Amino acid sequence: MRKTIIAGNWKMNKTNKEAVEMLTELKELVKGVDSVGIVIGAPFTALSDAVKAVEGSNVKIAAENVYPKDSGAYTGEVSPVMLKDLGVEYVILGHSERREYFKESDEFINEKVKAVLAHGMTPILCIGEKLEDREAGRTDEVNKTQIRGGFAGLTGEEAKKIVVAYEPVWAIGTGKTATPEIAQETHKAIRQELTEMFGEEVANEITIQYGGSMKPNNAKELLAQADIDGGLIGGASLKATDFYDIIKAAL
Ligand code: PEP
Repeated sequence: MRKTIIAGNWKMNKTNKEAVEMLTELKELVKGVDSVGIVIGAPFTALSDAVKAVEGSNVKIAAENVYPKDSGAYTGEVSPVMLKDLGVEYVILGHSERREYFKESDEFINEKVKAVLAHGMTPILCIGEKLEDREAGRTDEVNKTQIRGGFAGLTGEEAKKIVVAYEPVWAIGTGKTATPEIAQETHKAIRQELTEMFGEEVANEITIQYGGSMKPNNAKELLAQADIDGGLIGGASLKATDFYDIIKAAL
């Protein structure tokens, strides 16, 4: 029904040379894996060589951000046209670090979602609550707002093309993972929200990844949950062998 996708998010890590070395190692390890989508999110500076390094393999490359205009006077920004031209297939959007440090709003993220779709790439839309939201019992409300904002104005056909990454902010880079039960409960609520927006058929086709300290030693239990369709992995995506161990847990 829906595809399991294991995606890495390198964040602001790896020089071009380091990126190519890791991808060269990874593509050998994952040869023949066809039941799981494999994606690596790399910094802009490494994208061109990253795409070349994985050419002809089952590893796809993601950008970690985009500006939602095709071209123009936006100094320092990178457009979806430029990413598409390089052969980038996915774009990570609305990561909690961008929401927090760069003050990205749901409206702005929604513009990016639309721009990425318009250029035939796949958005990986990150959502997730902060610790204070969870402690105040606002988890579902926060995720609902981010889902409604990110998917605003889309048709069901467009919605089906989006990958959602549920990443509880309190679990990112902290070593604290949501228990499989907590993660499943939240994923189910997210799918319920998508069902209300687009109907069951569309909601059942949307891949919802879990992200937040997913590691080789906890991936299997998380990925075994009914509504968890993969992972978005930060720290453990930097080493090819760690990342491959997570992919194996999804097979
Ligand atoms: C992330 O930043 O998307 C992430 C999940 O990071 P980590 O796996 O390091 O918690």
